[in-house]
Amino acid sequence: MPDLPDVLGPYEGQALIGTSLRIESARIEFWDAGVIAIEPDQPGDKDVVFSCAVHGDETAPIEIVRDMLTDILAGKLQVKHRTLFLIANPAAIVNGTRFIDVNMNRLFSGAHAQGDTPEHHRAAKLEQYVSRFFKQQRRFHYDLHTAIRDSAHEKFAVYPFTHGGPYKKEQLTFLAECGVDTILLNQAPTTTFSYYSVREHNADAFTVELGKVRPFGENDMSRFTDADTMFRKLISTSELDLPKFDSNRHHVYDVSRSIDRTAEDFRLNFADNVANFTEFELGHLLAVDGENEYTVEQPGERIIFPNAKVALGQRALLTVVPMPVENLKLV
Ligand SMILES: [Zn+2]
Repeated sequence: MPDLPDVLGPYEGQALIGTSLRIESARIEFWDAGVIAIEPDQPGDKDVVFSCAVHGDETAPIEIVRDMLTDILAGKLQVKHRTLFLIANPAAIVNGTRFIDVNMNRLFSGAHAQGDTPEHHRAAKLEQYVSRFFKQQRRFHYDLHTAIRDSAHEKFAVYPFTHGGPYKKEQLTFLAECGVDTILLNQAPTTTFSYYSVREHNADAFTVELGKVRPFGENDMSRFTDADTMFRKLISTSELDLPKFDSNRHHVYDVSRSIDRTAEDFRLNFADNVANFTEFELGHLLAVDGENEYTVEQPGERIIFPNAKVALGQRALLTVVPMPVENLKLV
């Protein structure tokens, strides 16, 4: 039985790559550093991917995945469905940074072909692993993150662009059971990992933000209990026994505007520590980009993912507006 650091480690684990080992009623395959597939002897009808560390300093999801793997290896968590664990950017974990050269969550759906950094190469490989893994009709991918800043909604998920397709009540309920009661709708194709799985593999896939980034060992894991419990149930029970859909459980936001930094002279007109989903009054100045000023244009407009230090041409701020759940096309 290998030690877990060997399983997760980017370089220490080299000896395991290409090998597999048997546990009771399943085979564990080590496809690459941080790429671990669980193949039950009698698999159920779901294929489930959990990815973490697309951003290397987002530690809590890595700890959640590590603990699930530890329990699987110890026989404490019996996996009934084919499951793929991806520790996306081991080099950045070792470095203790979000990424080495470039934000990996902008490199999927082929964008990795536009560059030659370790992140570009790894994103290409991750796509290959996901393609190799998904075989059955029912496909799920939860890409686990933590945010850089506080959030007025601590846990939220990005629902990737559906190309007009309906939103799934079952998935909204599953996320709510995970403690993720807020949904951000993406209304356009993106180069995120979750959108890749939606578009290329017809999976139910989400970018799931579980709370605020803290260093390894400093995460209060009790804040992730609901998510951890549901992730484990998803892979260890034949069928989830979810409660009935209840629209009152969910806060849904639609992206209103994406504000890019186009000028050297760029600033955000609020404090660095302002929480995601903070609402400002109509007319409030949000950002100054060279000659352009951006103010709040709609009642209820809120800010999310502000980062004044992005490279020129990149997104510095998103604004979102609440959307009544009743307005969603649901199935
Ligand atoms: Zn992230």
